[in-house]
Amino acid sequence: MLDGDFFRRWLAAMAAAVEREADRLTELDSAIGDADHGSNLQRGFRAVTATLEKEPPAGPGALLSLAGRQLISTVGGASGPLYGTLLRRTGKALGDSDEVTPAQLTEALRTGVAAVAQLGGAKAGDKTMLDTLEPAVEALGTSFAAAAEAADQGALATVPLQARKGRASYLGARSIGHQDPGATSAALLISALAATAEEA
Ligand code: ADP
Ligand code: MG
Repeated sequence: MLDGDFFRRWLAAMAAAVEREADRLTELDSAIGDADHGSNLQRGFRAVTATLEKEPPAGPGALLSLAGRQLISTVGGASGPLYGTLLRRTGKALGDSDEVTPAQLTEALRTGVAAVAQLGGAKAGDKTMLDTLEPAVEALGTSFAAAAEAADQGALATVPLQARKGRASYLGARSIGHQDPGATSAALLISALAATAEEA
């Protein structure tokens, strides 16, 4: 079972990964965007960390919802509302129980990822975070490790794609040949989940 402590550790692992990889994310965003993806997520996940240190809610659903609200209110870029929606809707789907099963988390994340697709109007193949999140959620039905592997593959698979959504789409064919920053940060989120599950 996955309890509040598991979700707190997942969010902390993601915050640490964002600190570690911020420069790389910003570099990827400088090639096909406006060079702020690393700093956007840094601002967002620092706010998440600060809020959770103050008064962390007990349950998995409430933790993810609060983190999502922080991302929406602190990140100016497109990724804030998108990641915020992912966490809020996943949290809402988890409800208010103290513990959830991996299968319940998988179903809840499926709901969250669908909400991201609806908000941003993107689908797999458009060179966005969805190219990572969709295969990761599918593979999560198998195992946390399989999800992390699928997420990494999904992020890599954005390299040859032409962006059809977001700022990178303004570049047209010139977006080809670069890894999508949001797909890359989404792989960090899923890796952090798998690492948290491994140490549990
Ligand atoms: P901004 O593009 O506003 O500068 P960021 O640089 O923080 O925001 O985030 C860019 C990332 O957001 C992209 O690499 C992409 O993965 C993701 N993204 C942008 N638009 C969409 C969308 N409509 N649907 C899904 N993801 C998107
Ligand atoms: Mg940007």
